[in-house]
Amino acid sequence: GGPEVAALVASRIVDVPDFPQPGIVFKDLTPLFADGDAFREIIDATVAHYGAGSFDVVAGIEARGFVMAAALAYAAGVGVVPVRKAGKLPRATHTAQYALEYGSAALQVHTDAFVPGQRVLVVDDVLATGGTAEATLGLVERAGGVVAGLTVLLELEFLGGRARLAAHEPHALLRV
Ligand code: AMP
Repeated sequence: GGPEVAALVASRIVDVPDFPQPGIVFKDLTPLFADGDAFREIIDATVAHYGAGSFDVVAGIEARGFVMAAALAYAAGVGVVPVRKAGKLPRATHTAQYALEYGSAALQVHTDAFVPGQRVLVVDDVLATGGTAEATLGLVERAGGVVAGLTVLLELEFLGGRARLAAHEPHALLRV
């Protein structure tokens, strides 16, 4: 259930102060991914939250979202679509530029990544300011997908990302 999975996620996160720059506490989820039992639990809990059959494809955000996306897609019997940093996808793409705390970033998806109307579950590891997720949701819609949900392992509530995504209530296994 929810509290048990949240506690499991909390127990496998390592806080790394001042990475990648002073003042940021980086949430390192690699110990969670490396623990086979824990990894199975977070995938199964996420699929159970939405219900297999409630989405047609999973879109993962580069790079840590890919780890989740492939496993979620396999567990649910659907395919996986990569949302990548600019310049990595080889064919025609949609691009979303968005602001970071310092500077900006751009994400892309293939224009034909989705069958029109396909229900898309979007996944990333951490929801922080919400800029990355907001950009991705826009890309999914521009590429013809319908957002079925946005799921993350960890939501950093104090950064207020949820407010930017109000139309697509995010699901987080752990909120801190
Ligand atoms: P944001 O666009 O601010 O919501 O940032 C989300 C993206 O940055 C996600 O892809 C996360 O992987 C990464 N990220 C942001 N803040 C952190 C953090 N404190 N620890 C780990 N990853 C983070």
